[in-house]
Amino acid sequence: MSQISQLLSYQQKDSELLKIEQEISGSEERKKYAQTKSYLNKASEKLDKLEAQSQGILTHLDALHKRYAEISETLKDFDHLDDLVEGGADLAFYQRNLIQLIDKIKALKAEIAAVTASAKETTEEYQAMRKKVIAAQKQYPELYAAFQEFKKSKQEQADAISKELESLAQGIDPEVLRKYQAKRSERIFPIICEIKMDRCSKCGIELSIADKDKVSAGKVVECENCHRILYKA
Ligand SMILES: [Zn+2]
Repeated sequence: MSQISQLLSYQQKDSELLKIEQEISGSEERKKYAQTKSYLNKASEKLDKLEAQSQGILTHLDALHKRYAEISETLKDFDHLDDLVEGGADLAFYQRNLIQLIDKIKALKAEIAAVTASAKETTEEYQAMRKKVIAAQKQYPELYAAFQEFKKSKQEQADAISKELESLAQGIDPEVLRKYQAKRSERIFPIICEIKMDRCSKCGIELSIADKDKVSAGKVVECENCHRILYKA
């Protein structure tokens, strides 16, 4: 039983430390710092994507240039059309060919316009993003320093509590303390709870028959539902 009262005083003191930890994690300083950090990480991925996209556009433009060169080459055939027709060539054949070429040029023009529009869009997006990233990068060291400063302002208080916790830990079964710390790191708090009417006072689940027997024998048990350490006062 004295083990339980020691654990309870430990937990009481530990709740003060938890409060400081929550003040730090819930602070504006941490939020601003964490937001900017996460933005910069995401922005770097996005900039990589935009770079890959612009590489794709360049490849596409290259292909369009090649097609244009091919058409230009074919158009050269028409330079000597007069001679060819005089030599008895089929004019209708060349007319059909010319119509096909004109269609190809039209399609090519439309495609070049689309690729150019997409290139413009990508460039604008990239530049806007870059501006934002540069601004965030400039801000980042200040935000980081402000967060560190805030943590430091709480450190002395936290250290004093930790020292008290160390002395309160004397006399607590190391195995129980290890279990306590494991639960604490799982964000369970409070960890030690009273049994009321054979139920966990935190989540309300009734104890099993085996656990009731253990409690009657003066032992502590673990709640099957919320995994807190339960004791009977
Ligand atoms: Zn419970």
